[in-house]
Amino acid sequence: MGRKLLLEHIHVPGINTLAVYREKGGYRAVEKALKTMSPEDVVEEVKKSGLRGRGGAGFPTGMKWSFLAKPEGVPRYLVCNGDESEPGTFKDRYLMNNIPHALIEGMIVSSYALGANTSYIYIRGEMMPQIRIIENAIQEAKAAGWLGKNILGTGYDLEIYVQPGGGAYICGEETALLESLEGKRGNPRIKPPFPAVAGLYGCPTVVNNVESIAATVPIVNDGGEEYAKIGIERSTGTKLISASGNLVKPGVYEIEMGLPVEEFIFSDEYCGGIANGKRLKAVVAGGSSVPILPANLITKTINGNPRLMTYESLADGGFVSGTAMGSGGFIAFDEDQCIVRNTWNYTRFYRHESCGQCSPCREGTGWMEKLLYKIESGNGSLADIDLLWDIQRRIEGNTICPLGDAAAWPVAAAIRHFRDEFEWHILNPGESQQRNYGLAHY
Ligand code: NAD
Ligand code: SF4
Repeated sequence: MGRKLLLEHIHVPGINTLAVYREKGGYRAVEKALKTMSPEDVVEEVKKSGLRGRGGAGFPTGMKWSFLAKPEGVPRYLVCNGDESEPGTFKDRYLMNNIPHALIEGMIVSSYALGANTSYIYIRGEMMPQIRIIENAIQEAKAAGWLGKNILGTGYDLEIYVQPGGGAYICGEETALLESLEGKRGNPRIKPPFPAVAGLYGCPTVVNNVESIAATVPIVNDGGEEYAKIGIERSTGTKLISASGNLVKPGVYEIEMGLPVEEFIFSDEYCGGIANGKRLKAVVAGGSSVPILPANLITKTINGNPRLMTYESLADGGFVSGTAMGSGGFIAFDEDQCIVRNTWNYTRFYRHESCGQCSPCREGTGWMEKLLYKIESGNGSLADIDLLWDIQRRIEGNTICPLGDAAAWPVAAAIRHFRDEFEWHILNPGESQQRNYGLAHY
């Protein structure tokens, strides 16, 4: 059994309450940090842990914290990004739903480390149950003296506020989130300046994902070095994975980084294999923004090494700059799934969610959606595949925020790995609706 740091007590009745959370050792990290450590000590432990951002980018959390500007007399903010909207990703809402105090405790520890006295939890607007759960947990924590003025008599003050999201995927992009939090339309800002220098209301701000913030609790409790012993190379600790698609046991799993992907898919401890006795065709390992990998490349890398659940191993052979681990939204496709249809579906989503500020994203997502529908519905030409390739190439790297890249990568990977499936739709227009094609890759 892999170690569990965040979900260890998930099945304990009442773990959503402060009383039971305390019985299981909750808020020890707050006591330890506030009473025995300086803010710099906490930052140092997070650096030692090697924790990388769990929202999708995998940026080292300790490094991000150390970039926080500290001008005299200017407030600093911690903003928790709970706007989880990536298709295939649902682990943050699971954590907030079941162990809300893990997030509140992480918020207190992290805010203390950053010198923030006011912090925000921005939760996706559609997640009303989780918004209420987190608000209740804040009230419970405040009534018990874990929040408010002079926490534990240490002189440290902290207030945490919940802000329901603006109802758009783009509001999960950190600078769009800050705009939305300020009461404006959620349009991404050009970076730099990064939020660490000019964030909420122009003040130094750290924006961290829900899971990243919760992970600071075991890091403070056990020390950064202990945390870093779990995992491999630059992928340390545990990671929550949202598993969905054609799996026997979809759900949220906590894995130790470095677990072989094959074991994650097929072992009974995790997903239990492909549903209905079907064969695995492809996997999107990190939410819809990352490239799709065919079955032969999901169990092994292009060098023939076992593919591992790490930021490094889940790359697409250097084809795209991002990591395919993303936010841990692991979607499995069986042999009956149509890659062209799936790619069209993703592209529709990105076209709809584009904020429209950049021409390559605004226009390109629309063109890609139209071309994919043309091909999928049996009306495409072979030249359309090259046109599609050309459009995605012109989006990547040419936009204000990563939504453009996120729209381009799935299209690029689908053409790269499943070009014959695109061609089949074009060469077999009558049959293309049957969508049973696709085992040639294995
Ligand atoms: P990014 O790589 O631009 O930034 C990562 C983080 O590091 C940011 O907080 C940024 O401010 C900080 N940073 C980077 N360089 C810095 C510097 N020089 N100084 C100070 N801070 C610096 O990526 P991103 O825009 O934060 O995230 C993109 C990822 O989000 C995608 O890869 C996707 O997987 C993921 N995503 C997740 C969801 C979800 O629901 N969880 C939704 C959409 C996208
Ligand atoms: Fe808006 Fe797309 Fe540009 Fe991001 S890439 S700022 S979503 S138009």
